[in-house]
Amino acid sequence: MNLTAESHRVPLSDGNSIPLLGLGTYADPQKTPKGSCLESVKIAIDTGYRHIDGAFVYYNEHEVGQAIREKIAEGRIKREDIFYCGKLWNTCHPPELVRPTLEKTLKILQLDYVDLYIIELPMAFKPGDAIYPKDENGKFIYHETDLCATWEVECHPYFTQSKLLEFCRQHDIVIVGYSPLGTSRDETWVNVSSPPLLKDPVLNAIGKKYNKTAAQVALRFSIQRGVVVIPKSFNPQRIRENFQIFDFSLTEKEMKEIEALNKNVRYVELLMWRDHPEYPFSDEY
Ligand code: NDP
Repeated sequence: MNLTAESHRVPLSDGNSIPLLGLGTYADPQKTPKGSCLESVKIAIDTGYRHIDGAFVYYNEHEVGQAIREKIAEGRIKREDIFYCGKLWNTCHPPELVRPTLEKTLKILQLDYVDLYIIELPMAFKPGDAIYPKDENGKFIYHETDLCATWEVECHPYFTQSKLLEFCRQHDIVIVGYSPLGTSRDETWVNVSSPPLLKDPVLNAIGKKYNKTAAQVALRFSIQRGVVVIPKSFNPQRIRENFQIFDFSLTEKEMKEIEALNKNVRYVELLMWRDHPEYPFSDEY
């Protein structure tokens, strides 16, 4: 596949297509100034990103919607140029809540549709106003659910998911890999015992050869395997850097070298919910 900045979509079986590179938008709402998401999404669209990954539970979906609408009003893009992925939160899994929750998201975005709506995590929580419902002992209140779960998969050179990727290839399923740069390493929810991906000597050495950063090499590795990536950055320089991955390609030998970095260790383990009956990360896939 010839991947370019203008053309890096992969077809989906319903006739739509998804850009291989998207902008992730999760940032800790307590630590992130209001408006950073708005500015970042606008910069990303100006840079050429056409895929934005967001969620109700990121608390900045209104900024994502505003950025898309402003860029449409400016005439830079049309709505159909953008691929937006929204997510159904854990407290909204009962079937009768799915549609009203999606409608709430559309209202927040002030858009007519989303391009993809996924189950954020397969672990249902008790429905209600509390996003993280807990009992009087501070224990999370779970909820029974009947799921045919389809959700994004962490994927990067330290967690290459080769077996899953092969299964998906055989069944024509596209994988979206979250945390493609190895996360923000926020100790409150990330397993930081796995070393920082972007410090990896192999990624840095290969980057040196092409005058690219380790981040660019990690992203290029994923899209060259056909894995959609959604790196998050709210830094203008890094938003642009992460898009400069269409002017070089990795050799087969380099792809193999990077694949060999796999440690089979997740950064996103969500151990606080490991007693949930639907906790997904004990299974091999
Ligand atoms: P990423 O792997 O995308 O890493 C983001 C971190 O890397 C940020 O701290 C960012 O900082 C930094 N960064 C970005 N670009 C560079 C660069 N070129 N060089 C060095 N550092 C860089 O982690 P995420 O966990 O955020 O995953 C990406 C997205 O995936 C999320 O934002 C979200 O949209 C989605 N996601 C979905 C999940 C789910 O459960 N469904 C789970 C986790 C993520 P800065 O902003 O300062 O550049």
